[in-house]
Amino acid sequence: MAIRNILTRGEEILNKKCKPVKEITPHIKEVMADMVDTMNNADGVGLAAPQIGIMKRFFVAMPFADMEEDDERRDLVLYMINPEITRREGSQESNEGCLSVPGYMGVVERPEKIHIKALDLDGNEREYDFEGFAATVCCHEYDHLEGVLYSERAKEMMTNEEYTRRQEAENEEEN
Ligand code: ZN
Repeated sequence: MAIRNILTRGEEILNKKCKPVKEITPHIKEVMADMVDTMNNADGVGLAAPQIGIMKRFFVAMPFADMEEDDERRDLVLYMINPEITRREGSQESNEGCLSVPGYMGVVERPEKIHIKALDLDGNEREYDFEGFAATVCCHEYDHLEGVLYSERAKEMMTNEEYTRRQEAENEEEN
């Protein structure tokens, strides 16, 4: 396993549509293991193949990373190969960041609930219903496979500093 280099905004490859995986080879499994290491190393909650320069349709994600520390789902890592979002319902606004857009956060409108299916590492078809944060994470990663960065969808972009200031101001209002 190894830490891979994460490409950042401006690299052409991040705006290209990825191709389906034809066969889940040992090589792909190794790449996905590297992606988990790379994601964890960078404190991310998702990483898609094009972000490390591979134009194939797969991503890794931690859809429950927002759960309380004692929630066992918090560390769950999903391996999504050839994912398809087959249902989108409602809408929500969330604050998103991306390892390929370092230093920024943005406000993005996403579906509130999704149904997503994908192959896992063993080639089994899996289906999930996600809502809230988990839905946002999967939509964000899925977008990478379509060549779309969240910053291209965001209603508003801000630097990490601006975001922190805003959170602090909101917390003060609540207290
Ligand atoms: Zn991203």
